[in-house]
Amino acid sequence: MPLNDDVDDYRNGWPPDKFEAAPCVEPGGMVEPAEIAEMFPDARVGGGWYPGAWRVEQGGNGGAITARPAENVLHIAASNWTIDPADPANPNRGIAGWNSSARACNGYNDQYGNMQQYASVWSAVNGTKDGNWRNRTWEAWNPEGLNGTAEQYNASTYTAEQCERFSDLLAWDHIENDAILDDMSDSRRASHGCGAHRYGIDPWRVSGGEVWTAHAGKTCPGTARVRQLPGIVARARVIASAVSTGRCTYLPAGRVNLAVAIARTGGVPAPTPSPQPIPEFELTEVGMFIMYGPGGAALCGPGYVQHLDEEGYQHALKIPGIKQIDVDRRGWDVTRAILLQGYVADKITDGLAAIPKA
Ligand SMILES: [Zn+2]
Repeated sequence: MPLNDDVDDYRNGWPPDKFEAAPCVEPGGMVEPAEIAEMFPDARVGGGWYPGAWRVEQGGNGGAITARPAENVLHIAASNWTIDPADPANPNRGIAGWNSSARACNGYNDQYGNMQQYASVWSAVNGTKDGNWRNRTWEAWNPEGLNGTAEQYNASTYTAEQCERFSDLLAWDHIENDAILDDMSDSRRASHGCGAHRYGIDPWRVSGGEVWTAHAGKTCPGTARVRQLPGIVARARVIASAVSTGRCTYLPAGRVNLAVAIARTGGVPAPTPSPQPIPEFELTEVGMFIMYGPGGAALCGPGYVQHLDEEGYQHALKIPGIKQIDVDRRGWDVTRAILLQGYVADKITDGLAAIPKA
């Protein structure tokens, strides 16, 4: 039984295209980057680079794009590699050298909170198999390197610097990209936020959860790190609150100075409530409908969005009883996210549109 983690799969000869790989197909079909760029103008498909990481651009899984809102999934790497601050963007060393062919993670966080990012957060990577269509994959240093046992992995915690780096990353992703600051708790499609790879690995996977590995029993990460997740998310909320109110900035790239990093958020801010996912929009049930806005026109239904050209639009207008919902740029974006990603799947009956409040 494979005890260890993702890098271990690679070391044991898995070809890169088999590495927790799966087609990144949304329920509505494959979405091309150009289409995403048009429909999600705020997504900065060519961007999505966390400013606190050294950028070592290696790309993702065939140009596929992760869904919105994307989830952030934390792992444990079978590596005790520390990024060399004198050569922080070398693509051939440590995890960077491994990932150049595996295309398996968006970034790596070492024991001091030094982070490298390999793929835009909008690029799908081969890190979580059936979750690749929506999950970012973040690998993390562990002290046992390649030789850890399951017992050691279960006892291993993220260092304080690693936690602060991950929290900073999550805060940035929340503010910039609408990532949700909640503990996913499991791998169900209706669960959103930050998760552990293990949420999608048997025997820890819950009934109905997505399968995030080809290796049941893989200790990625171990118990101690899974237990740190709620704290990492809570700290991310504090940082997000401080950054958004101008009290501090994101961490710079490099080693985390823990005292400075903790002090930057100042005092003890009031706990922030779980963010409402779509606070400035009203959700309206409309069944099948035409969404019309700056991105063009689309025919929409539960789990279905079909971009319409002029001919398709004229045809759709003739569907008996069809309604047209006019949206602004952001309403377009949010509606599409709802329909394609089961963002509020348990509430969808016929269809749901996000209408900007006046
Ligand atoms: Zn993993």
